[in-house]
Amino acid sequence: MNVFGLLGNPVGHSLSPPMHEAAYDALGMDARYVTFEPAPDDLGAAIEGARTLGVTGLNVTIPFKQDALAHVEPDDLAARIGAVNTIDFGTNGEDREDNETADPPTGHNTDVAGVNRSFAHHDVTLADRDAVVVGAGGAARAAAFALADAGARVHIANRTVERAERLAADLGGATRDDSTRDDSEEATAGGLDSLETRVPEADVLVNATSVGMEEDRSPVPAETLHGDLAVLDAVYRPLDTRLLREARQRGATAIDGAWMLLYQGVEAFELWTGRDAPVSAMNEALRARL
Ligand code: NAP
Repeated sequence: MNVFGLLGNPVGHSLSPPMHEAAYDALGMDARYVTFEPAPDDLGAAIEGARTLGVTGLNVTIPFKQDALAHVEPDDLAARIGAVNTIDFGTNGEDREDNETADPPTGHNTDVAGVNRSFAHHDVTLADRDAVVVGAGGAARAAAFALADAGARVHIANRTVERAERLAADLGGATRDDSTRDDSEEATAGGLDSLETRVPEADVLVNATSVGMEEDRSPVPAETLHGDLAVLDAVYRPLDTRLLREARQRGATAIDGAWMLLYQGVEAFELWTGRDAPVSAMNEALRARL
């Protein structure tokens, strides 16, 4: 049996177990997905222990995404973002032979694919588009790198302007697919007030703040939204946020946070197993619980 899991604290309300187990059921795999809550100081021991026990792959969530970097070999993307949400023990779902030496676990950030694939699913192209990311925390970093690497011009708007500026500076090193891009078009940063001028000009908007979770509020002024905009809200509880409702009212494409959650899981599944994920089954399992 293959064992996959999630390291985080807390992980009690995680939607990853039902989403991944729906994939195993759909493909007839003998596998389980379990959650673990190690103490903060035990992260390295937990990862090493999982490797020793033959765990195939782990997801990593709050508060371990940054600290996990020190315990794995991060790929280029995870290293640039500074966060790991997926660890692969390199067994590709197969048992190791007794005399085989295990490779060091590799670290990846599939939140980036979660953003890219959410837009792709809704036929939204990102290359050469003007994009605005609201927020500068973990989800915003993934979104900003996803958009910049896909060739979009990125503006970061955050309540704490210094954090937005730091993220924009970090993006300066992003590899852009489109070699024809003007290198002077670096990412820009501002406070939330910059949304007033940036959103009316934008093609793509990502809310990567937690605004909209606890209260029925939107971080983006409704009057700036328009019909040529595609809006992804990373918030998935609730699924239909005020931002998405207001975006839809103004004719924008509205993409809820469950898509991002789904596609980060799809990407992790494909990385661990080398198989195409059963996306519909995973999506159904996820949405049944939201
Ligand atoms: P985080 O690292 O703690 O960042 C939180 C961000 O929200 C910061 O930019 C913060 O601004 C901003 N913020 C918080 N309260 C605010 C307020 N009252 N007004 C304006 N800005 C405020 O959190 P995170 O991990 O990035 O998560 C952010 C959201 O994305 C959460 O809702 C989370 O559930 C969601 N998320 C979704 C997925 C998915 O797959 N769909 C994945 C990851 C996260 P300051 O810098 O000024 O504090």
